[in-house]
Amino acid sequence: MSAEMNPEGVARYIEAAKESARRRGDDIAAMRRCRFDTIAVHGLYTMRESLDFNQGSIIEPIYMSSSQAYRDSDEMEAALAYQIPTWCYSRIANPSMYYFENVMALLEGYGFEGETSCCATSSGMAAIMCSTDAFLQVDRNDTSRPMNFVSTCQVYGGTFQQFSMRKDHDRGIECRWIVDSTDLDAWRSKIDENTRFLYGELPSNPGQAFFDIEAVAAIAHEHGLPLIIDNTVAGPALMRPLRHGADVVVQSVTKTLTSSGFGIGGAVIARKNLTSKWGSEEMKADLGAYLKQLPNRDNGPNLSPMNAMLALNDMRTLRIKVDLFSRNTMRVARWLGEHPRIEQVDYLGLPQHPLHEIASKYLWLVDAEHDEQYGQPVNRYGHLMSFRVQGGAAATRKVFDSFQRIWRATDLGRVKSVATIPAISTHSQQGKEAREMADIPPNLIRLCVGGEHPDDVIADLDQALASIDGRVTVSVPNDFSVGGASRRVPGADA
Ligand SMILES: *Cc1c(COP(=O)(O)O)cnc(C)c1O
Repeated sequence: MSAEMNPEGVARYIEAAKESARRRGDDIAAMRRCRFDTIAVHGLYTMRESLDFNQGSIIEPIYMSSSQAYRDSDEMEAALAYQIPTWCYSRIANPSMYYFENVMALLEGYGFEGETSCCATSSGMAAIMCSTDAFLQVDRNDTSRPMNFVSTCQVYGGTFQQFSMRKDHDRGIECRWIVDSTDLDAWRSKIDENTRFLYGELPSNPGQAFFDIEAVAAIAHEHGLPLIIDNTVAGPALMRPLRHGADVVVQSVTKTLTSSGFGIGGAVIARKNLTSKWGSEEMKADLGAYLKQLPNRDNGPNLSPMNAMLALNDMRTLRIKVDLFSRNTMRVARWLGEHPRIEQVDYLGLPQHPLHEIASKYLWLVDAEHDEQYGQPVNRYGHLMSFRVQGGAAATRKVFDSFQRIWRATDLGRVKSVATIPAISTHSQQGKEAREMADIPPNLIRLCVGGEHPDDVIADLDQALASIDGRVTVSVPNDFSVGGASRRVPGADA
């Protein structure tokens, strides 16, 4: 039947959409009754979804199509007015992204009574950009006062640049840094009537700064402000900030969530009806849907379907992987702590770490109490640790250059152990002063322990530390591949 012959037109589709929204609500409710691992494995990809729409495929298909076709003009009109669920065009949405976003929203919302939603982005930095920019809309009643926001200064190097350069320097949006995030009065003292949000990263990369989320959320809410937390390092299997009062969580999906190292992605996960004295009612009601349908549609930072599926596939076994990495990291940290060449080991799991107690309030392996192996709650502290080598920058570089199995890369949360010297890599752009403020000295090596047997990681560290007294020669290739093209290094073959 053609649309023009149908007197109900668009209304017919809206009616059908109501029915489908009801079924989807039932699916979400059913999944919320399941445990973390079950959600990670299945998400909202139900048998009905598979049999009705996906040829019975048991694994979520990768929808590489740029766009969605409509039955007729009525369906198109209803879809483009967002009156019915639609994915429309892959810059905005896509079925593969949808499966991923729902798993993300459910995992970050695990154990939280309220509802959550997610908007997936092309990278962690894009997630940080769109979640924070949502609260940085100009106040049309008073454009004279500059906006500001408050953030912990121990943040990922890219976040530091985005806040200090892209927002503060380029746009005049003042970023107010908190140096000691455990100092609650410091948070209070930075807030004024034009503050838009509070932002924190914990455990921070690389410093493992940590603070009391509940206390900082309470301060934010007293002032009618949202608290945004970067939960990349711990991830939802160890910590879920929304349960502790945070309004928005950002993830670099690239890291712990996609531990195989396949691809780049990010996610913004928010509680529905979040606290904010700024922004539209629509935005506060559902930040995930708002970002997707409006700013991200217009700015275009969303995730690609291929990356959504790669991440989703990795996330199915998130809990057991994070448990393994955490246990391995603990073994390595203890060993390094005994080594005579090591000045200091920082790992939140070590009882002597000054933030061990507060971290232990928040970092728990999800569902350990329902796990046959543990049968009770257990703390796990993740894969991120750092150590300081005696003898300054030169000795540190020697140790670093001697690793034979631990990869030298600016990366973390991998199934393979990875190390970097943040002062010359991830945190080089922000300058010496800012590094001192964030306590990132040149003899600090950040190490993320992966899924290898920890004895083999320890053996690699052992031989690398023994190299301090010797000479390290690294052979330099005469070809570097840059962006796919090979480039000759002048004189390298001499
Ligand atoms: C890597 C990282 C980011 C940025 O994520 P990308 O996916 O690389 O854009 C943000 N926060 C933290 C804590 C990170 O480690």
